[in-house]
Amino acid sequence: MSTRSITTAAVAALALSLSLTACGQSSEGGSKEDKDSKSAKDMTVGIAMPTKSSERWIADGKNMVAQLKGHGYQTTLQYAEDDTDQQVSQIENMITQGVDALVIAAIDGRALSNVLQQAADADIPVVSYDRLILGSENVDYYASFDNEKVGELQGTYIVDKLGLKDGSEKGPFNLELFAGSNDDNNTRYFFQGAMNVLKPYIDDKKLVVRSKQTKINQVTTLRWDGGTAQKRMDDLLTSSYSKERVDAVLSPYDGISIGILSALKSDDYGSKSKPLPVVTGQDAEALSVASIVKGEQTQTVFKDTRELAKVGANMVDALLNGKKPEVNDTETYDNEKKVVPSYLLDPVSVDKDNYRPVLIDSGYLKESDLK
Ligand code: BGC
Repeated sequence: MSTRSITTAAVAALALSLSLTACGQSSEGGSKEDKDSKSAKDMTVGIAMPTKSSERWIADGKNMVAQLKGHGYQTTLQYAEDDTDQQVSQIENMITQGVDALVIAAIDGRALSNVLQQAADADIPVVSYDRLILGSENVDYYASFDNEKVGELQGTYIVDKLGLKDGSEKGPFNLELFAGSNDDNNTRYFFQGAMNVLKPYIDDKKLVVRSKQTKINQVTTLRWDGGTAQKRMDDLLTSSYSKERVDAVLSPYDGISIGILSALKSDDYGSKSKPLPVVTGQDAEALSVASIVKGEQTQTVFKDTRELAKVGANMVDALLNGKKPEVNDTETYDNEKKVVPSYLLDPVSVDKDNYRPVLIDSGYLKESDLK
């Protein structure tokens, strides 16, 4: 064999071994090896979102895709329309298709243990997005907001607005309480945060919950459904407010606030003689901000999903590059198997007075969205 043909054979062998490595067929095999040798453009991140029925999750999906694309990754985004089985099978399919990482906003925080075991077996890292996944050790990181503070902002808004905090009003005022879906871990943080502020006033009888429904399991709203909340508010008005008037309603989410306001308006609240109560909310959804501007819903809590998507995408990028994601909380979020290292963003209370600087000037919403 001539020197030239030896060199050609050596180059061919080297090229073959390089191409096998690039295809993830290195002699050791395994997906970790694959990730180490893949570049971002050859990796796909699976994003599982709960529902398109709420604007915030649509924005989250879009923002996650944009952020991950910005890091060079491919993405696959799925919505499960609040159906847990559908979400599980979407995640299973993503695993079968060989995604390199998963970002999951769970519908039912406890329904994903089996599918996350499959992800772990395939060496796929998992970022729990906004809602903590419970009962599984196969959750690597958590990107969310300070969820207890969300509730505190809602509770504080109520006592401020009623004039209880500065003592300008003594009460008693009538208050009713709503919480989110009982299968979402955030629900108890929001409720706890609100009750930290409201309970002392309830104990002092400055706030009166005429329905007596003050325990979280009496006031949850399955799947955060506005219609369910409307029905409960209708029932409360009938059972407890035939003579009295409700002065404030703790609502954990804008979609629930819309249901509550419909029930109130059907009972003549909002007319001259019967003002609407203080009604809180969460997510700064366009319809609710429009309602705030109109003087119906009173407050919402803004959580900048653009920032959350950045945090989530940075976590994925670090994990896929063998680096440690940045976190700012390693104590709060125990998912019953481990304390999941978290990055928590700050929520902001929004009402008629500050919606412009916070939501419009920051480009989160356009004035023309508020119809
Ligand atoms: C989110 C809230 C949202 C709610 C209903 C919660 O897990 O943190 O922002 O309002 O789900 O979609």
